[in-house]
Amino acid sequence: MVANRDGEIFDLPAFGSVGMAGETFFPLTESDTIDMPFGSELMMMPRKKPIVYSFETKEFEVLEFNPYEPDQEVFPVAVFNSPGYVNKYFPAYESEKDAGLLPLFSYGATGFGKDGFRSAAILIDNEPRQDLRLMPRKKILAGIKAMQKQYPDNRLMRHLENCATIYSCPAGKNFFLKRYEAPLPTARTCNARCLGCISLQEENLITSPQNRIKFTPTAQEIFEVATEHFNSVEKAVVSFGQGCEGDPLTAFKVIEPAIKKIRKKTSSGTINLNSNASMPGLVEKLFDAGLDSMRVSINSVRKPCYDAYFRPNGYKFKHVLKSIEQALNKNKFVALNYLNCPGFTDSRLEFEALVKFLQTYPVSMIQWRNMNYDPQGYCKVMFKAGGRSSELGVEFVINELKKLFPDLIHGYFNPPKEKYAR
Ligand code: SF4
Repeated sequence: MVANRDGEIFDLPAFGSVGMAGETFFPLTESDTIDMPFGSELMMMPRKKPIVYSFETKEFEVLEFNPYEPDQEVFPVAVFNSPGYVNKYFPAYESEKDAGLLPLFSYGATGFGKDGFRSAAILIDNEPRQDLRLMPRKKILAGIKAMQKQYPDNRLMRHLENCATIYSCPAGKNFFLKRYEAPLPTARTCNARCLGCISLQEENLITSPQNRIKFTPTAQEIFEVATEHFNSVEKAVVSFGQGCEGDPLTAFKVIEPAIKKIRKKTSSGTINLNSNASMPGLVEKLFDAGLDSMRVSINSVRKPCYDAYFRPNGYKFKHVLKSIEQALNKNKFVALNYLNCPGFTDSRLEFEALVKFLQTYPVSMIQWRNMNYDPQGYCKVMFKAGGRSSELGVEFVINELKKLFPDLIHGYFNPPKEKYAR
């Protein structure tokens, strides 16, 4: 399956689709793929050439032109799988000279099977929290109207309107739909400079899909969003640390009083922190204030690979480990927001390090997130930082972890405290 320059997608009957993990090719088969999940999106990959499998020669081939229409250029096709699905491979491709990096999306391998589009992905969380079929625009707009009436001066809610209607953020939509988890963006800055940061990009000619929030909400504005959600939703979750902000720990001064205010008012609902967990002292204070759980963003448990991606500014990897250790000592729920890229995340070196990490830091959950970054560009940086080793397979890694750590939860979404009561 390839695309032409206009983005029209079509299959090439004499060739098979090929997935990639690191630098290794894998011809896609029916048994190795699933029906493309609802809500997934297909993308043409600009300035790349597809690598396909010839059924005739049984060889991998780089295609520049359509073998059936020799003057038509062809490009690889990737799938942006819906939330809850983990990529097993990314599409096999070769970059044109000076092609630059792909835009910030996750690129999953895909092909055309006997009954339609297929994804090389694994279902890791089937909760319908971000199922677009359950998030009608009309209802979102009605929810926005109701909040404008009830909270005319709440700037944070106005910001979430933009998230829900312009950025199409599922968490923003869920606040106005009164479902599951609502976002509490607060931070205008960050002390990391992630290669794939989706709220700020200052180099490499790639743009960030969102802009960072332009004001710091007050504790009262945060309190109103959180309690509005807790009053309206069963097993509700609210989370600091969203795609439209820096790291919430840099907004500690408003977050701590907001949490105290919420917990003074109600013990219901789950207050969660999505963060790079770079400031253990502040993390401890937030748990003391009433924070329930923490999700730590991490691309690797090996310092050189972590540093190469997060590019910490004023903190060290050991501070992240300290925050996790402290939270575990307080018997708090800790999840890893594990940024997955096939070929690196499932490499022998990363897997061995992850097993050791989990033995030392028995976190409660791994949330498997597809890395939103040029996959070959990412692997190149990671292999330089931490060495290359054989791919074990993302599915193999998840199954092995299930055997080695039976209590470890594998999923995608921040669970409500009712689900993991301590
Ligand atoms: S920690 Fe988050 S906000 Fe900070 S640079 Fe990384 S992705 Fe961006």
